[in-house]
Amino acid sequence: MSANNWISGKYSVAIWTWALFSLIGFAMWAIRDIRYFALFECIGTSELIARSIVIKHPSTRQLVRRLIQVFVGGMLLIMVSLIFCVNFQFIEIFFDYQAAVVTGAFIQLVIARLIIPFIFGNAFCSRACWDGAVFEAINGLAHCSKPTPRKPWLAWSYLLLLIIISIVIVHIATNPATDDALRRKWIIGENLFIWAVGFALSFVLGSRAYCRMLCPFLTISSQLYRFSFLKITPIKSADCINCNKCNKTCPMLIDVHKSVVKKSKIDNNTCILCERCVSACPKGVLDVTYKHAE
Ligand code: SF4
Ligand code: SF4
Ligand code: SF4
Repeated sequence: MSANNWISGKYSVAIWTWALFSLIGFAMWAIRDIRYFALFECIGTSELIARSIVIKHPSTRQLVRRLIQVFVGGMLLIMVSLIFCVNFQFIEIFFDYQAAVVTGAFIQLVIARLIIPFIFGNAFCSRACWDGAVFEAINGLAHCSKPTPRKPWLAWSYLLLLIIISIVIVHIATNPATDDALRRKWIIGENLFIWAVGFALSFVLGSRAYCRMLCPFLTISSQLYRFSFLKITPIKSADCINCNKCNKTCPMLIDVHKSVVKKSKIDNNTCILCERCVSACPKGVLDVTYKHAE
């Protein structure tokens, strides 16, 4: 394999992904401790391996992504959240803020929602979020004949509501950010609540209802989507046979085919880079790339 393949050829996304996560890992080691380096190096290396496997065996794309999602999401939930008691939910940023501490939720917000989106858009949602992994597993059990499209006003209202709830809780009860045992209970309760709400909503609002309609993290990172270096891109629009399989498979209800017709990148800011549309296309029209649409 030539060096060119790694730097600007078909392995470039894999190698640059690994390099970026390694860089973030070193920075976090300098700022916090070596565990953060291990965490980011682990994520970067697993992405490097996964993308390299998919290049050799494209049919494994979804299997490999789901394995990465379970591995990274499971590591973040079980090891980082439940064992190390580092919080990872949005409301906890405001618990932390009111306790004047900086922990996992804030780090996740800055890295996964304000830095990484410039390269990978909302890819955290399809490759690292344990809630997303749970929704992918259980949402298939729910059937909704008429899915509801995202309503930005609802997503922003929910985000605001979480901030208000955090302020009220801190003023009438103990701030979970000040007590590890309480925080651990909060992490468990909060995740169970999100899974239950997400599953119930998917019956009436459609696939990944919590993600599409409410999740505050997506509300934030979607604002940066337009700057994302990597996007789902039609690489040979002329081969499209208008079968609509890309649209039918999209969990975020995005009109992928419309972009193919326009020969433009997917410009919907809720795309989570799950690459389901890429896998579903029988003609290989789509890919995840920084290159121009054709
Ligand atoms: S939208 Fe929120 S809950 Fe859904 S996968 Fe993304 S971060 Fe996780
Ligand atoms: S457009 Fe493709 S990559 Fe984006 S969310 Fe839909 S199926 Fe996933
Ligand atoms: S799945 Fe592929 S061939 Fe079918 S409509 Fe979408 S881009 Fe065209």
